[in-house]
Amino acid sequence: MSTSRKPFVGGNWKMNLHGSEVAELANGLTALPLDASKVDVAVFPAFPYLAQVAAVLKSTPIKVGAQNFYSQANGAFTGEVSLSMLKDIGCEVVLVGHSERRHVLGETDEMINAKVLAALDAGFEVILCVGEKIEQREAGKTHQINMAQLEYGLAGVNADQMARITIAYEPVWAIGTGKTATPEDAQEAHDRIRRCLNFGFDWGEDIGNAVRIQYGGSMKPSNAVDLLSQTDIDGGLIGGASLKASDFMAIVHAAEQSQA
Ligand code: PEP
Repeated sequence: MSTSRKPFVGGNWKMNLHGSEVAELANGLTALPLDASKVDVAVFPAFPYLAQVAAVLKSTPIKVGAQNFYSQANGAFTGEVSLSMLKDIGCEVVLVGHSERRHVLGETDEMINAKVLAALDAGFEVILCVGEKIEQREAGKTHQINMAQLEYGLAGVNADQMARITIAYEPVWAIGTGKTATPEDAQEAHDRIRRCLNFGFDWGEDIGNAVRIQYGGSMKPSNAVDLLSQTDIDGGLIGGASLKASDFMAIVHAAEQSQA
Protein backbone atom coordinates (compact mmCIF):
# COMPACT_ATOMS: atom_id res chain seq x y z
CA MET A 1 0.00 0.00 0.00
CA SER A 2 1.01 3.63 -0.25
CA THR A 3 2.83 4.83 2.87
CA SER A 4 0.72 8.00 2.85
CA ARG A 5 -2.50 6.12 3.64
CA LYS A 6 -2.93 4.38 6.97
CA PRO A 7 -4.30 0.88 6.38
CA PHE A 8 -7.79 0.06 7.61
CA VAL A 9 -8.96 -3.48 8.37
CA GLY A 10 -12.62 -4.29 9.04
CA GLY A 11 -14.09 -7.52 10.37
CA ASN A 12 -17.61 -8.19 9.07
CA TRP A 13 -19.09 -10.82 11.37
CA LYS A 14 -22.30 -10.95 9.29
CA MET A 15 -25.16 -13.05 10.75
CA ASN A 16 -22.74 -15.29 12.67
CA LEU A 17 -21.94 -16.11 16.31
CA HIS A 18 -24.09 -16.17 19.45
CA GLY A 19 -23.66 -14.98 23.05
CA SER A 20 -20.67 -16.87 24.38
CA GLU A 21 -18.96 -17.00 20.96
CA VAL A 22 -19.34 -13.22 20.61
CA ALA A 23 -17.85 -12.70 24.08
CA GLU A 24 -14.96 -15.06 23.31
CA LEU A 25 -14.13 -13.30 20.03
CA ALA A 26 -14.41 -9.77 21.46
CA ASN A 27 -12.28 -10.72 24.48
CA GLY A 28 -9.80 -12.41 22.17
CA LEU A 29 -9.37 -9.15 20.26
CA THR A 30 -8.62 -7.21 23.46
CA ALA A 31 -5.80 -9.63 24.31
CA LEU A 32 -3.85 -9.08 21.09
CA PRO A 33 -1.31 -6.30 20.58
CA LEU A 34 -2.23 -3.61 18.09
CA ASP A 35 -0.24 -0.55 16.98
CA ALA A 36 -2.97 2.03 16.42
CA SER A 37 -0.49 4.46 14.89
CA LYS A 38 -0.02 2.05 11.98
CA VAL A 39 -3.47 0.60 11.34
CA ASP A 40 -7.16 1.38 11.92
CA VAL A 41 -9.39 -1.53 12.88
CA ALA A 42 -13.17 -1.91 13.15
CA VAL A 43 -15.46 -4.88 13.70
CA PHE A 44 -19.09 -5.23 12.64
CA PRO A 45 -21.04 -7.61 14.91
CA ALA A 46 -24.72 -8.46 14.44
CA PHE A 47 -27.17 -5.93 15.97
CA PRO A 48 -28.09 -7.84 19.15
CA TYR A 49 -24.45 -7.91 20.26
CA LEU A 50 -23.31 -4.44 19.20
CA ALA A 51 -23.59 -2.80 22.62
CA GLN A 52 -21.91 -5.77 24.31
CA VAL A 53 -18.97 -5.74 21.88
CA ALA A 54 -18.69 -1.94 22.08
CA ALA A 55 -18.40 -2.23 25.87
CA VAL A 56 -15.70 -4.93 25.67
CA LEU A 57 -13.66 -3.03 23.06
CA LYS A 58 -14.03 0.39 24.69
CA SER A 59 -10.55 0.24 26.20
CA THR A 60 -8.95 -0.70 22.84
CA PRO A 61 -8.40 1.27 19.61
CA ILE A 62 -10.76 -1.12 17.80
CA LYS A 63 -13.90 0.66 16.60
CA VAL A 64 -17.30 -0.96 16.53
CA GLY A 65 -19.47 -0.57 13.46
CA ALA A 66 -22.89 -1.56 12.17
CA GLN A 67 -23.56 -3.80 9.19
CA ASN A 68 -26.78 -1.96 8.39
CA PHE A 69 -29.13 0.92 9.36
CA TYR A 70 -32.01 2.87 7.87
CA SER A 71 -31.49 6.23 6.20
CA GLN A 72 -34.44 7.97 7.92
CA ALA A 73 -33.92 9.59 11.34
CA ASN A 74 -36.89 8.00 13.17
CA GLY A 75 -40.52 7.01 12.78
CA ALA A 76 -42.74 4.21 11.57
CA PHE A 77 -40.15 1.92 9.98
CA THR A 78 -40.79 -1.43 11.64
CA GLY A 79 -37.69 -3.53 12.04
CA GLU A 80 -35.22 -0.80 11.14
CA VAL A 81 -32.45 0.78 13.21
CA SER A 82 -31.48 4.46 13.05
CA LEU A 83 -28.07 6.08 13.04
CA SER A 84 -28.78 7.94 16.29
CA MET A 85 -29.55 4.60 17.99
CA LEU A 86 -26.22 3.27 16.74
CA LYS A 87 -24.44 6.37 17.99
CA ASP A 88 -26.07 5.88 21.41
CA ILE A 89 -24.41 2.50 21.82
CA GLY A 90 -20.97 3.61 20.66
CA CYS A 91 -20.92 2.84 16.92
CA GLU A 92 -18.71 5.05 14.78
CA VAL A 93 -18.58 3.25 11.44
CA VAL A 94 -21.16 1.75 9.07
CA LEU A 95 -21.04 -0.61 6.12
CA VAL A 96 -23.03 0.45 3.07
CA GLY A 97 -23.56 -1.35 -0.25
CA HIS A 98 -22.23 -4.76 0.81
CA SER A 99 -22.91 -7.23 -1.99
CA GLU A 100 -25.14 -9.33 0.26
CA ARG A 101 -27.35 -6.29 0.84
CA ARG A 102 -27.30 -5.38 -2.87
CA HIS A 103 -27.85 -8.84 -4.30
CA VAL A 104 -29.54 -10.88 -1.55
CA LEU A 105 -31.60 -8.18 0.21
CA GLY A 106 -32.28 -6.12 -2.92
CA GLU A 107 -30.82 -2.73 -1.98
CA THR A 108 -30.75 -0.37 -4.94
CA ASP A 109 -28.13 2.25 -5.83
CA GLU A 110 -30.67 4.89 -4.76
CA MET A 111 -31.05 3.33 -1.30
CA ILE A 112 -27.29 2.97 -0.99
CA ASN A 113 -26.70 6.62 -1.86
CA ALA A 114 -29.38 7.72 0.66
CA LYS A 115 -27.62 5.66 3.33
CA VAL A 116 -24.16 7.07 2.50
CA LEU A 117 -25.47 10.65 2.73
CA ALA A 118 -27.45 10.00 5.94
CA ALA A 119 -24.47 8.35 7.66
CA LEU A 120 -22.11 11.18 6.69
CA ASP A 121 -24.63 13.78 7.89
CA ALA A 122 -24.83 11.93 11.21
CA GLY A 123 -21.03 12.04 11.59
CA PHE A 124 -20.25 8.38 10.87
CA GLU A 125 -17.36 6.90 8.94
CA VAL A 126 -18.65 4.92 5.96
CA ILE A 127 -17.24 1.89 4.19
CA LEU A 128 -18.88 1.85 0.75
CA CYS A 129 -18.59 -1.58 -0.86
CA VAL A 130 -18.47 -2.03 -4.63
CA GLY A 131 -17.73 -5.02 -6.81
CA GLU A 132 -18.73 -7.06 -9.82
CA LYS A 133 -20.55 -10.39 -10.07
CA ILE A 134 -18.87 -13.30 -11.88
CA GLU A 135 -20.98 -12.90 -15.03
CA GLN A 136 -20.12 -9.21 -15.17
CA ARG A 137 -16.41 -10.04 -14.81
CA GLU A 138 -16.64 -12.67 -17.56
CA ALA A 139 -18.35 -10.11 -19.80
CA GLY A 140 -15.41 -7.71 -19.28
CA LYS A 141 -17.55 -5.28 -17.25
CA THR A 142 -15.63 -5.21 -13.95
CA HIS A 143 -14.47 -1.61 -14.19
CA GLN A 144 -17.77 -0.37 -15.65
CA ILE A 145 -19.69 -1.89 -12.72
CA ASN A 146 -17.28 -0.48 -10.13
CA MET A 147 -17.41 3.00 -11.68
CA ALA A 148 -21.21 2.99 -11.79
CA GLN A 149 -21.48 1.85 -8.15
CA LEU A 150 -19.03 4.57 -7.12
CA GLU A 151 -20.81 7.28 -9.09
CA TYR A 152 -24.24 6.35 -7.71
CA GLY A 153 -23.01 5.66 -4.19
CA LEU A 154 -21.00 8.87 -3.81
CA ALA A 155 -23.41 11.26 -5.56
CA GLY A 156 -23.77 14.41 -3.46
CA VAL A 157 -20.81 13.65 -1.15
CA ASN A 158 -18.60 16.71 -0.72
CA ALA A 159 -14.81 16.96 -0.51
CA ASP A 160 -14.76 17.36 3.29
CA GLN A 161 -16.97 14.32 3.78
CA MET A 162 -14.65 12.17 1.64
CA ALA A 163 -12.23 12.07 4.59
CA ARG A 164 -14.79 9.77 6.28
CA ILE A 165 -15.27 7.47 3.27
CA THR A 166 -13.44 4.19 2.71
CA ILE A 167 -14.12 2.14 -0.40
CA ALA A 168 -14.12 -1.65 -0.17
CA TYR A 169 -13.55 -3.38 -3.49
CA GLU A 170 -15.21 -6.75 -3.08
CA PRO A 171 -15.58 -8.90 -6.19
CA VAL A 172 -18.82 -10.74 -5.45
CA TRP A 173 -17.46 -14.06 -6.74
CA ALA A 174 -14.68 -13.93 -4.15
CA ILE A 175 -16.85 -13.27 -1.09
CA GLY A 176 -17.17 -16.29 1.17
CA THR A 177 -16.11 -18.63 -1.64
CA GLY A 178 -12.45 -19.20 -0.82
CA LYS A 179 -11.62 -17.75 -4.28
CA THR A 180 -9.46 -14.64 -4.06
CA ALA A 181 -8.59 -12.15 -6.78
CA THR A 182 -4.89 -12.37 -7.60
CA PRO A 183 -2.95 -9.46 -6.09
CA GLU A 184 -2.36 -8.16 -9.64
CA ASP A 185 -6.06 -8.34 -10.61
CA ALA A 186 -7.07 -6.73 -7.34
CA GLN A 187 -4.47 -3.97 -7.81
CA GLU A 188 -5.76 -3.31 -11.32
CA ALA A 189 -9.32 -2.90 -10.01
CA HIS A 190 -8.10 -0.69 -7.15
CA ASP A 191 -6.10 1.44 -9.57
CA ARG A 192 -9.19 1.99 -11.73
CA ILE A 193 -11.22 2.84 -8.63
CA ARG A 194 -8.51 5.30 -7.59
CA ARG A 195 -8.59 6.93 -11.02
CA CYS A 196 -12.37 7.22 -10.82
CA LEU A 197 -12.07 8.86 -7.38
CA ASN A 198 -9.40 11.22 -8.71
CA PHE A 199 -10.95 12.23 -12.00
CA GLY A 200 -14.63 11.22 -11.95
CA PHE A 201 -15.73 13.72 -9.31
CA ASP A 202 -15.35 17.45 -8.69
CA TRP A 203 -13.15 17.23 -5.58
CA GLY A 204 -9.83 16.56 -7.36
CA GLU A 205 -6.81 14.30 -7.09
CA ASP A 206 -5.62 15.17 -3.59
CA ILE A 207 -8.91 14.03 -2.11
CA GLY A 208 -9.06 10.91 -4.29
CA ASN A 209 -5.48 9.92 -3.43
CA ALA A 210 -6.24 10.12 0.30
CA VAL A 211 -9.18 7.68 0.15
CA ARG A 212 -8.45 4.22 1.50
CA ILE A 213 -9.50 1.31 -0.70
CA GLN A 214 -9.87 -2.01 1.11
CA TYR A 215 -9.88 -5.37 -0.66
CA GLY A 216 -12.54 -7.88 0.40
CA GLY A 217 -13.07 -11.43 -0.82
CA SER A 218 -11.64 -14.42 1.04
CA MET A 219 -8.71 -12.47 2.46
CA LYS A 220 -6.96 -14.63 5.07
CA PRO A 221 -3.60 -14.76 6.85
CA SER A 222 -2.06 -16.81 4.01
CA ASN A 223 -2.84 -14.31 1.25
CA ALA A 224 -3.01 -11.01 3.16
CA VAL A 225 0.67 -10.05 2.81
CA ASP A 226 0.65 -10.37 -0.99
CA LEU A 227 -2.62 -8.47 -1.36
CA LEU A 228 -1.70 -5.73 1.10
CA SER A 229 1.67 -5.12 -0.54
CA GLN A 230 -0.09 -3.76 -3.64
CA THR A 231 0.14 0.01 -4.09
CA ASP A 232 -3.57 0.76 -3.98
CA ILE A 233 -4.71 -1.92 -1.50
CA ASP A 234 -5.03 -0.03 1.78
CA GLY A 235 -6.43 -2.71 4.04
CA GLY A 236 -9.12 -5.35 3.94
CA LEU A 237 -12.75 -6.04 4.68
CA ILE A 238 -12.72 -9.52 6.12
CA GLY A 239 -15.66 -11.88 6.53
CA GLY A 240 -14.89 -15.52 7.40
CA ALA A 241 -11.37 -14.90 8.71
CA SER A 242 -12.62 -12.20 11.08
CA LEU A 243 -14.50 -14.81 13.14
CA LYS A 244 -11.28 -16.13 14.70
CA ALA A 245 -9.34 -13.56 16.72
CA SER A 246 -5.90 -14.98 15.84
CA ASP A 247 -6.63 -15.03 12.07
CA PHE A 248 -8.11 -11.54 12.11
CA MET A 249 -5.19 -10.14 14.07
CA ALA A 250 -2.71 -11.86 11.73
CA ILE A 251 -4.31 -9.86 8.89
CA VAL A 252 -4.23 -6.68 10.99
CA HIS A 253 -0.52 -7.24 11.62
CA ALA A 254 0.09 -7.84 7.90
CA ALA A 255 -1.59 -4.47 7.28
CA GLU A 256 0.64 -2.82 9.92
CA GLN A 257 3.71 -4.30 8.22
CA SER A 258 2.54 -3.20 4.76
CA GLN A 259 3.29 0.38 5.79
CA ALA A 260 6.96 -0.36 6.43
C1 PEP B 1 -17.18 -9.74 3.29
O1 PEP B 1 -18.16 -10.17 3.84
O2 PEP B 1 -17.11 -8.52 3.11
C2 PEP B 1 -16.11 -10.66 2.90
C3 PEP B 1 -15.10 -10.20 2.22
O3 PEP B 1 -16.26 -11.99 3.26
P1 PEP B 1 -15.13 -13.15 3.13
O4 PEP B 1 -13.86 -12.59 3.69
O5 PEP B 1 -15.67 -14.29 3.92
O6 PEP B 1 -14.98 -13.45 1.67
